[in-house]
Amino acid sequence: MAYKFIDNYREKGARKKLVEHLKSRGIADSRVLQAIGKVPRHFFFDETFWLQAYKDIAFPIGDGQTISQPYTVAYQSELLHVTPGEKVLEIGTGSGYQTCILLELGAEVFTIERQVNLYHRTIQVLPYMGYKPHFFCGDGSKGIPEHAPYDKIIVTAGAPFVPEVMLQQLKIGGQVVIPVGDEKEQKMVTIIRVGENDFDRIELDTFRFVPLVGDQAW
Ligand code: SAM
Repeated sequence: MAYKFIDNYREKGARKKLVEHLKSRGIADSRVLQAIGKVPRHFFFDETFWLQAYKDIAFPIGDGQTISQPYTVAYQSELLHVTPGEKVLEIGTGSGYQTCILLELGAEVFTIERQVNLYHRTIQVLPYMGYKPHFFCGDGSKGIPEHAPYDKIIVTAGAPFVPEVMLQQLKIGGQVVIPVGDEKEQKMVTIIRVGENDFDRIELDTFRFVPLVGDQAW
């Protein structure tokens, strides 16, 4: 496949500016900022739109889906506190950009996408860029029980509720970050499994995601 991946001073400069912008919006985790400074986000865009890649906006990636806004990716990544070697389940691979950030943070990533076209694109593009998560195609609203338990679970689509099956796939001490709400807006929710049947839940800022569609979702 003929991908045209060029990362020159123009894109590198735009990426540095994006990192400064995210800092000014309150992202403070230096490892997250470093990862955003490293992953060439324009590789997920058609060449015509390369400079759009470094604006703090979500952008269409086909099949009615979007690549998440950089601020949202940074916000969710910061909340997750990924440490090297952790097993992370990502629900909603989409473009694969968030996947690359998690890999840069040193996670072993299990990522699942329900849209077949997007799945086929990411299984080609990410390894070509040197990123190697475990890819799955299907309904991630039920998690991936075969590979559980996970240290962290990140959901990159808006859910109507937190699926219980997902919580059961966390290690004790593990954490899920998931946007929960209606079709219009969702609160970022973070839940830590503090014991076999004990969970600490915190609701944070409001975002707008595409819907999580599936058995334990919309
Ligand atoms: N982090 C991704 C990115 O930056 O490209 C986010 C992509 S988009 C906001 C959310 C993705 O979740 C979409 O690609 C959508 O198809 C996917 N999705 C929705 N419901 C899903 C489900 N039940 N299982 C797996 N993926 C799902």
